[in-house]
This record gives sequence, structure tokens and C-alpha cells, in this order.
Amino acid sequence: IPVEAFDLVVFGGTGDLARRKILPALFRRYCAGQMPEGAQIIGAARSEMDDAQFRVFVTEAIAEFNGDFPYKDEDMQGFLSILFYITVDALGDRGWTELAAKMQADRVRAFYFSVGPSLFGPLAERLHTYGMADMNTRIVVEKPFGRDLETAKELNRSLADHFDEHQVYRIDHYLGKETVQNLMAIRFGNMLFEPLWNSQYVDHIQITVAETVGVQGRGEYYDRAGAMRDMVQNHLMQLLCLIAMEPPSRFEPDAVRDEKLKVIRALDPVDPGDIVRGQYRAEGERQSYLEDVENPQSTTESFIALKLHLSNWRWAGTPFYLRTGKRMRARSSEIAVVFKETPHSIFDEEAGRHRNILTIRLQPNEGIDLDVTIKEPGPGGMRLVDVPLDMTFTEALGPDAEQVPDAYERLIMDVVRGNQTLFMRGDEVEAAWAWTDPIIAGWEERGDKPLPYDTGSSGPVDALALMHRDGRRWREVR
Ligand code: NAD
Repeated sequence: IPVEAFDLVVFGGTGDLARRKILPALFRRYCAGQMPEGAQIIGAARSEMDDAQFRVFVTEAIAEFNGDFPYKDEDMQGFLSILFYITVDALGDRGWTELAAKMQADRVRAFYFSVGPSLFGPLAERLHTYGMADMNTRIVVEKPFGRDLETAKELNRSLADHFDEHQVYRIDHYLGKETVQNLMAIRFGNMLFEPLWNSQYVDHIQITVAETVGVQGRGEYYDRAGAMRDMVQNHLMQLLCLIAMEPPSRFEPDAVRDEKLKVIRALDPVDPGDIVRGQYRAEGERQSYLEDVENPQSTTESFIALKLHLSNWRWAGTPFYLRTGKRMRARSSEIAVVFKETPHSIFDEEAGRHRNILTIRLQPNEGIDLDVTIKEPGPGGMRLVDVPLDMTFTEALGPDAEQVPDAYERLIMDVVRGNQTLFMRGDEVEAAWAWTDPIIAGWEERGDKPLPYDTGSSGPVDALALMHRDGRRWREVR
């Protein structure tokens, strides 16, 4: 889809996120022919740099983080020619007049706040003061969006002072994944699944986001956040919303986000016995969580598993099991919708009991599979076997189906197009914190400590028990 010419300013353009994700993503969109004539990308940060130095910085970022993405030299030259840099102080006056002068008239203006949340308010205010905030202006903010309901409200207020909600794009890159959107197509574009998508037919749903890395130099931030704030309140909650929501009346931003909000509001408070928190141990040369964050007393969790219930007509009685952690066995994220067994088996016991599972894999190998039970081929009588049906149909769709843009590419272009469907609305974020806050307060009041778990495992043994006691089990992390 073509986009209009735009000016995109990346505040924090010299930072880690810009280097690893945003700038390489913009380059790939350029190569895909999606940067219209006259577009400008302007890095703006505290660092002293000029356009030429910024172009070198971006060239190096692309070399390091674009893997073996093939491109033509002329694309690189073309991309570099639309890059500019202005030294700007978010907390002072430096650079703002220059930045305002760089803006072109009658353009979409997008400002990506790739900086810590304490700068969101000051940046919004200065955009206003220096005349860059008009109805064509959009701002993009990164996580963490607050650390509790109070701070999230404060951030929302500081943005709302200068921008309307329809100008604010709160990014959750999980929503930009192709497969996550395909989930909506599969749910709402087919007759086949929606009638079964409820507690009558679904036994349970599990969501796993497992990482192999530890806290990786983000120890100070992470130790103040933990897995609940860093992952569950935002990413896992967003996935849960898409899986559990009612069909929106249209595939439009507010229709979709209204339905997501209802899911969050339907969440029951969680029984402390339905939560397992963990901290990874040392292994060989790899340090323990406590060593990584240099805080031997820390009670922050690097792993969490929870069992949730939604109090609504569709899902009453179907538990949702969520888990996420660092230093786990594999880097693997998936949602599994586990259907109930057939009410009665007509086959003898040897055939075994089987169930359909719809698996939405976010990484590695993004895709959607449906396990279907069939007869094991051959003369051995009626033996049943579960085989995965590839629902992403890359073969049927041809080679283009594999050339999908990554999450940041899609989301940034959605900002330019003015499509907020895949971004979180302020009230969603607040509702998620309103649910999270009492859980965390409970740990703090009781002095709950996380359980140690081995690096390379699936988390603490108690997390397995959380499912076993219900006669269920987690899918393997692999
Ligand atoms: P970083 O520390 O690497 O970069 C910060 C950037 O902000 C730098 O470009 C710096 O020059 C600029 N900056 C700092 N103070 C400034 C000021 N007063 N005026 C102007 N510019 C200033 O941080 P990062 O890792 O790139 O993270 C940026 C944001 O994205 C943070 O909110 C972070 O939580 C979020 N985030 C980062 C990642 C990641 O992988 N790095 C992932 C998700 C979210």
C-alpha cells in the first residue's frame, strides 16, 4: 500500500533500539519501495553528530542487524540520502528550532520516542512549544509504558496535554507480527473456528514466551520491573486479548481495541496459588540472576507462570495458562489453543485419546499449525495419529508469502498511514495495570520470594505442577 511523503523523527536515534530495530527496519521498507519521494528520516538525540556521521552509524547498524538481507548499493545510497541528524536535548532548548525548520509543510509528521519514558512528557511539550504539533503529527512511544497504574496514568496525561489519543501510537511489537495478524484472519475470516472458540469446545489455552538470554546489561531496569511488568502486563496480555476477544464489528482501530479492553476488564483477580515466580540459577560460566542484577537480596522474578480466568460468557470455565521467562531451554514463543477430547471415542483403547491443538508460533519459524487426528496409514488396524496441518500455507501462497515485513517495519508504516489498529490505546494500558497492580502488591505485602530454576530448563518445577494438578501439561519449550 503506497504511503504519502512524510517526515519521521527518531528521538533517541543513536540508541540501542534505533540501531537494532528501527533504522534497519526503515531501510528494508526503503528497499521494498515504500519510502515515497521526498520522505525524510531525522535522527534526533543528545549525542554530538552531523548528518555524515549519522549515515555512517546507520550503515554500520544495517550491516550488523540486517543479517543476510540482500540489497542493491543504489538502495543503500538512496536510503542514506534521506537520513539527517540533529542534536536535540529533550530537557533543554538545544536543537529544537533547527528541528522545526527541517520539517516540511503539509506532511505527515511522525515522532518516534525511542527514549526512556521520563522523556515522553518533555518531548511532547517541546513539540508543542516549537510548533511541530498539529493534526498531521503522530507520536510513537515505546515500552515500558509506566510501572503501575499511577505512572501509566501520569504518562497518558503528559501526552494528552498536547496530543489527541488518535495521534498517540503505543507500540507493542508483538502485535506487528505477521502471525498474530493471521490469527485474526483465521478467527474472523473463516466459519470453521469461531463456533468452536469458547469454553464448550476449548479445554484450555496456553501462551509461552521463553527466552534463552538473561537480563543482558539491562539489569538495573529489569530488576525494578521483573517478568510481570516487563512481559505479562504488555506482550502476553495483548496476545491473550487477541485470542480471547469477541469478533469486532469491523477491522478498525477502535472496534478492535474496544473488544480487547473488554477482555482485560473480564480478567478475574488471580489467586496467589495460581502464580509461580522464578529466578534463574548460575550455570557454568553464566551468572545467576542475582549476580546479573548485582543485587543479592533481589526478589524480582525472571520467570512467571500464571493461571487466569475470564469472567465472561464465552470463556467461563476455560483456564488460560501464561508463562514467560529468561534463560529457558529455547527461544520459543507460541500460543496453543487446546481443544477438548471428543465426548466419546468410537475407537478401541489402543487408538488412544486425541485432541486438536491450534498452535500459533511467534518464534522461531512463525506460523500456524492445526493438529488433526487421522488414521495412521498402513495395514495395522485403526490406529490414530495427530498430524500438523500447516495453516500458513506458504507453499500455496508462493514465495512472496515468506517475504513478510518484520514487526517494526509494519508498525512504523502503519504510523505513517495513520492506522492505529495494532497499537495499544491508553485505556487498554491502564486496564492492564489495574489488573497487574494488586498482584504485585500482594507479593510485596506477603514478602513472596521467587523459586530458583536451572538455566536451560522450563522454569521452576512448581510451574509444571501448576498444570499437572489440573491434569494438563505445558507444551514442550523447544
Ligand atoms: P539507549 O539508552 O540505548 O538510547 C537512549 C537514546 O536517548 C540515545 O539516543 C540518547 O542520546 C537519547 N537521549 C537520552 N537522553 C536524552 C535527552 N535528554 N535528550 C535527547 N536525547 C536523549 O536506550 P534504548 O535501549 O534505545 O531504549 C529506548 C527506549 O526504548 C526505552 O524506553 C526502552 O525502554 C525502550 N525499549 C528498548 C528496547 C531495546 O531493545 N533496546 C526494547 C524495548 C523497548
